[in-house]
This record gives sequence, C-alpha cells and structure tokens, in this order.
Amino acid sequence: MSKLELKPCPLCGYEPEICQSEAYIGRDGHYFIQCAACAWVFGYQTDCGGIYSTPELAAKDWNKSISAIY
Ligand SMILES: [Zn+2]
Repeated sequence: MSKLELKPCPLCGYEPEICQSEAYIGRDGHYFIQCAACAWVFGYQTDCGGIYSTPELAAKDWNKSISAIY
C-alpha cells in the first residue's frame, strides 16, 4: 500500500498520521487524521469516531483544509 502524502500539522509542523477509530477497526470507514506530536485531531466526532470512509478521502480533505489555512 502506497503511503498517502499529508501536509504537515499546522500547529507543530510534524507529519500527521491517518488513523481509524479504535471502536471501528476492521470495519469500513471511520478514518481520521491525528498528529502524534501535538495530538491535533481532524475529522473526528465523539459519537461516531472518524468521519471519513477511506484513508484517501481523509488525506484529501486534510490537505485541502491545510492549504486553506496557509
Ligand atoms: Zn501537530
């Protein structure tokens, strides 16, 4: 599996990771982005976990959002 390109975290510059919500591992979807350095979380909701159906979607939306910030 090729690694998805992620823009660095806007808070600390560390490269974030694509994660899958713990309660939903092994099922479809529930992907979100998390920065391991500063614990910034993107695309996560407390009641349903990650909001993205695929890692690709999570990466795409993250990169778009970060571009909008800068
Ligand atoms: Zn960070």
